[in-house]
Amino acid sequence: MEVSSVNEGFPVIPLHTEMDKVYYEYICEHIRNVRKAYTRYGGILHKVFTGAKQSHMKQRVWIHDTSKFSISEFQPYRKFFYPEESELGIVKDEVKAEFRDAWKHHYTNNDHHQEHWSAQNGMMSDEAIFEMILDWLAMSMYFESDCREWFDVSDEKKEMNPHVLEKVERALTAIGM
Ligand SMILES: [Zn+2]
Repeated sequence: MEVSSVNEGFPVIPLHTEMDKVYYEYICEHIRNVRKAYTRYGGILHKVFTGAKQSHMKQRVWIHDTSKFSISEFQPYRKFFYPEESELGIVKDEVKAEFRDAWKHHYTNNDHHQEHWSAQNGMMSDEAIFEMILDWLAMSMYFESDCREWFDVSDEKKEMNPHVLEKVERALTAIGM
């Protein structure tokens, strides 16, 4: 079994099936892209998010999405996005319900999602917005899509606190998007 280099800091977890490995690799690739996005755009984004400490952002980028490797998230996400041939018979509602719980676990434990801040009216901290944008940039690297185009039609935008939206707009403009 191929596991990612320990130097990259990815947790080693049991991978039983082919799709487990595919999904594991997907998470690692995503985290690598978040790190790349920080290397590429961090300098500019630090000028926009002046309240974000560099040492904190480095730490955030390093541990980004680590909870995706947890028992609460790994299998439910994997079954939802990367089902095995043999799992296609599983009741879809069951898979969806498990995924909903896993997503709730994810945003409860990760403040780079606006859902985490619902009790604060969606008013996210600068560091959380910064990390959220790196998350989107990483996604657009993976899917080779345009971050701004995606954002403009996204549900993320529709649900966003206006103060957060204003900062997001400023940040995307600053990095030329
Ligand atoms: Zn996340």
